[in-house]
Amino acid sequence: MLHYDLIIVGGGLVGASLAVALRQTGLRIALIDAKLTSSDDPRLFALNSSSCQFLENLKIWPSLAAHAAPIHQVHVSNHGHFGVVRLRREDVNLPALGHVVPACIIEAALNEELMALPNFTLYRPAKLKTLCQKNNNVQLIIATANGEKILQSPIVFGADGPDSTVREQLNIHTEIFDYEQSAIVVRTTLKRSHEHIAYERFNVDGAIAMLPLTGNECATIWTANTKAQSQLMELSDEIFLQKLQHEFGYRLGRLQLTSKRHIFPLRMVRAKKIVDQGVFLLGNSAHTLHPIAAQGFNLALYKVAMLAESMMEKISKNEVFTASHLQEISVQIQKQQATSIGISHRLSALFSSHSFLPSIALQLGMISLNVTTPIKKRFIERMLGKTGCVPRLLLSQMI
Ligand SMILES: Cc1cc2nc3c(=O)[nH]c(=O)nc-3n(C[C@H](O)[C@H](O)[C@H](O)COP(=O)(O)OP(=O)(O)OC[C@H]3O[C@@H](n4cnc5c(N)ncnc54)[C@H](O)[C@@H]3O)c2cc1C
Repeated sequence: MLHYDLIIVGGGLVGASLAVALRQTGLRIALIDAKLTSSDDPRLFALNSSSCQFLENLKIWPSLAAHAAPIHQVHVSNHGHFGVVRLRREDVNLPALGHVVPACIIEAALNEELMALPNFTLYRPAKLKTLCQKNNNVQLIIATANGEKILQSPIVFGADGPDSTVREQLNIHTEIFDYEQSAIVVRTTLKRSHEHIAYERFNVDGAIAMLPLTGNECATIWTANTKAQSQLMELSDEIFLQKLQHEFGYRLGRLQLTSKRHIFPLRMVRAKKIVDQGVFLLGNSAHTLHPIAAQGFNLALYKVAMLAESMMEKISKNEVFTASHLQEISVQIQKQQATSIGISHRLSALFSSHSFLPSIALQLGMISLNVTTPIKKRFIERMLGKTGCVPRLLLSQMI
């Protein structure tokens, strides 16, 4: 049996971020991931300013900076309707509302850091088979290329994605909502500058986000019902570009060309609880969100910052971080994040609805958001992860 102070199941962006955030704790950490690293994730993530600051504090940002495009303004509109919402960096006195960074660049930077971590064991490729809680310890059986291994630790993090084995082993009740939508992700080249404006345009079927990338490129995330998106995937590049131009309009001028398209089916997965004795769920295994509000990774990084900070604080006082501390943190996190998760889910449900009423509500909401500055400021701050209890790891003065 192999003993660790802490085990992380799942080495995606969230599990890897947690391992890196804990590098100064001196804890013996094991990370288990089912797949070899590939760094071929085609997605392009909008990171809010708190997430960017956190990655800066983890010393990851220098590897991302050259690939990160700042967002100066967010422009939200509804096809065929009156009313536009503009969220500007000036509204919250920040140099940028966030940055758009390719997921593969974040993954590569985190993996490079993992290789240099002290007291760290990486099991990859290795798959969690079973998990059981016994006498204040959690025992895991994992399958590796060299056969099965038994690992044990008082604290385990389940960051093993939407179909989490950790969650399943603990029989945690999970709410699953199939949006019956898919997202097409593609890079679009423009004829002119995007001026660092992130556009989100809603239409009857879904939404099109055009997020600024470095150079004259945009990250296009086009969500609509799965049947329509599968048909779009079949089109030639030329016809696809025409459809995109028609649906998005000319706010970014004439679109020039698009890269290879990738499609992602969308569903919401929400664990009814995120902590069970010494086990804590993080990232997609705790909540998988619709990408409409670009919140999934941002919210997960907030949790990672809270956890890392709390553990470092206990260690600096020579105290042991226990399962009951996990319980306390989960209460704080759930209070802070319930609203953001709710907004994200309600927005996606609203925009996947065809009814007349949501469309009116949407217009009124958009108009009031645009003119009511304090409401707008609160909305932006929530989406930037700047309300409630903010871990110092998310603040600029920390490191
Ligand atoms: C189209 C799209 C666009 C998005 N855009 C944004 C955005 O702009 N901003 C934002 O904040 N979020 C965005 N998100 C959300 C973001 O992708 C997720 O929040 C993030 O990827 C969650 O990462 P994770 O590490 O929790 O999970 P995953 O990426 O699902 O990783 C889980 C890991 O666990 C491993 N694993 C699974 N089972 C086992 C097992 N049994 N044993 C061992 N290992 C296992 C897997 O190999 C994998 O590496 C977007 C999502 C989509 C679909």
